[in-house]
Amino acid sequence: MRVVPLLPLILLSAAPAMAQGTVCTPPSTAGRQQSPVDIRRAVATPLQALATHEPTEAGRAFNTGHTVRVDVAPGDSITVDGVPFALVQFHFHWPAEHELLGRRYPVEIHMVHEGPGGKLAVLGTWVRQGAHNHAWDELWAHLPTGADTVPVRVNVRRMFALANVNGERVYRYCGSLTTEPYAEGVTWLMRRTTITLSPAQIARLHEVMHRYSRDVQPLNGRTIRYRPPAE
Ligand SMILES: [Zn+2]
Repeated sequence: MRVVPLLPLILLSAAPAMAQGTVCTPPSTAGRQQSPVDIRRAVATPLQALATHEPTEAGRAFNTGHTVRVDVAPGDSITVDGVPFALVQFHFHWPAEHELLGRRYPVEIHMVHEGPGGKLAVLGTWVRQGAHNHAWDELWAHLPTGADTVPVRVNVRRMFALANVNGERVYRYCGSLTTEPYAEGVTWLMRRTTITLSPAQIARLHEVMHRYSRDVQPLNGRTIRYRPPAE
């Protein structure tokens, strides 16, 4: 039967982008699509490739009292299912919020993107303890501790090792903000590929911010999808 191998192609071409889309909208019933989650089972799905655009931008680093946050000048973006989201800021959580098979990395960084109608897409990167990461040297030399705001250059491509995001596994699911007001309809993109920070770099982060991490929430039947990485 030659029909069987053709079936996925038919599904791909027949289904409009929206049908297989991963851009999220707030559910009608609030409270059941919360983040973070423990990523245990994910489904390989023929999703559209992500498109990223990361020129080096100016940023402003400051300490919110909970986390270090870097607001980024307009220019960086990620496109999900044809919908462009502009990078607004990134910030740190320790320990990580999302888990992978029940394991929690020491740090997780959230790149918060805003799209049409104020929709949010968050690209999450886990940090594992390892080699010193020079891409973060400039920010680390000026990590804000008080009310000061520090101008920094932001090279997202280098800091987050984003050269080939479609060559990695990126878990996509519909979730929420992990801090108040925990609003749902957030398009989550959690990268399986980690970056490293050295023990000294992680220790320095701990000096300037307290524990800032929400525990995992029930999936409540949500599906976590990923696009099989491009060969
Ligand atoms: Zn966050």
